[in-house]
Amino acid sequence: MILNKTQLHELKGLLEKTRGEIEAELQELKKSLDFGDDVDSFDEETNEAEEFSNYLSVKKVLDRRTQRIDRALSKITDGTYGTCETCSKEILFSFFKKNPDSRLCVDCKKKGREEE
Ligand SMILES: [Zn+2]
Repeated sequence: MILNKTQLHELKGLLEKTRGEIEAELQELKKSLDFGDDVDSFDEETNEAEEFSNYLSVKKVLDRRTQRIDRALSKITDGTYGTCETCSKEILFSFFKKNPDSRLCVDCKKKGREEE
């Protein structure tokens, strides 16, 4: 593996920090949803429905990011972190610093093989 212990530790910290931020964001999002029983106008009901579908789409994105981070963290644990899942090439630390949850190397990303 191209990453040394210090680098791995740094990336792990980054991943855990981001994960915490996402969780906090989700909590905030939940709190901002106000589903009172006092729906007294049609407009309000419409807004709430809109807010809720908004919430769901944001939640979906955040959930996916959490999954990617968890996956990266478990790869660090089992020692498979640091290589591209498509071409098995080693991923550079400088690239990981920007995308710690990346599963692909720069080249594969450029080829447009977007991560699912
Ligand atoms: Zn690759």
